[in-house]
Amino acid sequence: MPDTIKAPRARRSASKIELLLVEDNDDHAELFVLSARSFSEANITRATNLTDALRIAKSQPVNLAILDLGLPETVGLDTLSLFLQNCPSLPIVVLTAISDLNLGEEALKLGAMDFLSKEEITPRTLLRSIRYAMERWAQKCKLEDSLADLQYFGSMAAHDLVSPLDAIQGFAQLIELELSKGKITTEAWECLDLLRSSAKRSINLVRDLQKLSSLGRKAIVKEKLDPNSLVEDVCATLRETIKETKGTVEAMDMSPIRGDAGLVCHVLQNLIGNGLKYSRDGVPPVVKISSSQEDGLTVICVEDNGIGIDEDHSTRIFLPFERLASSKGTKGSGLGLSICKKIVEAHDGEIWIESSLDQGSRFFFHLGC
Ligand code: ADP
Repeated sequence: MPDTIKAPRARRSASKIELLLVEDNDDHAELFVLSARSFSEANITRATNLTDALRIAKSQPVNLAILDLGLPETVGLDTLSLFLQNCPSLPIVVLTAISDLNLGEEALKLGAMDFLSKEEITPRTLLRSIRYAMERWAQKCKLEDSLADLQYFGSMAAHDLVSPLDAIQGFAQLIELELSKGKITTEAWECLDLLRSSAKRSINLVRDLQKLSSLGRKAIVKEKLDPNSLVEDVCATLRETIKETKGTVEAMDMSPIRGDAGLVCHVLQNLIGNGLKYSRDGVPPVVKISSSQEDGLTVICVEDNGIGIDEDHSTRIFLPFERLASSKGTKGSGLGLSICKKIVEAHDGEIWIESSLDQGSRFFFHLGC
């Protein structure tokens, strides 16, 4: 396994907001530019008609469009509709006349993030409107992402819940048949066992889904945590699994981290549990947990000596319901790592893996600053 830690960093850039001003009237455009000049957060590109505006929006980086609704080719809400149709992923603030407040409100209903009357443009109102529109857009995108997640989880969960329930129904029928013979046969006992494990699968899946849905609602409160004692708690919870797998869990002396104790425990439990679960035939699992410092962040590593993962699958395994062919025969909902990812990202952290088939895996995570 490579020794270097390469975190897939997504650093936030401190770059300016790129504004696209779509305004055909020179005086109004100048007023806008003068107002915007007093704060240094924006670069402005101007277009005087819709065709040019759409070309610019598609060909260069733009974060927000300020759109006058009266342009040479089109006026009123038609201007906004055409812009939205062609650039659905760009937030828009529309410019209206002070007498057109109703038009502004209609523009909001259609999808604009804010409206500004030209007569009221000052550096202060402009800055407020830009920041408000950007924040509203960020919230809208977050909401759309959650909705897409929910739809995806809903359909996958329904699918994954139906198969153990189908099995439960089938085993119940078999038990009924055996019992009708007037005695409790070995087959009936076997069916009961299978029925119980199918029920357990459904319960685990529902628990994982509950965990996942509670994450979206909970604000993360970070506190100083000692990973060594968290690992001790996790080992106590996994006592039976450690015994069954004849596994060993070793915690090196780790530096403190900042996070939500319950959620971080959940991440460690999933990673350590997987390290014990995905072991090689005839090789007792050994899971080691350690910490290192990277760019001022404490990175936790959970390393195992198990079946490993092909490098090509190193991103896929963090997607919900992804289970690799190599793990068939090992029970699981396929949600564990996607929950870990959500928890870590909710802390502004990152999680990644280094692994190769048959050579064990190293899962790394940090919890941001
Ligand atoms: P589950 O274990 O319930 O299937 P996870 O989301 O925890 O779901 O893991 C997704 C998949 O990633 C697993 O099905 C398995 O194929 C693979 N995997 C996870 N952890 C390990 C590991 N430590 N070693 C090998 N494969 C793993």
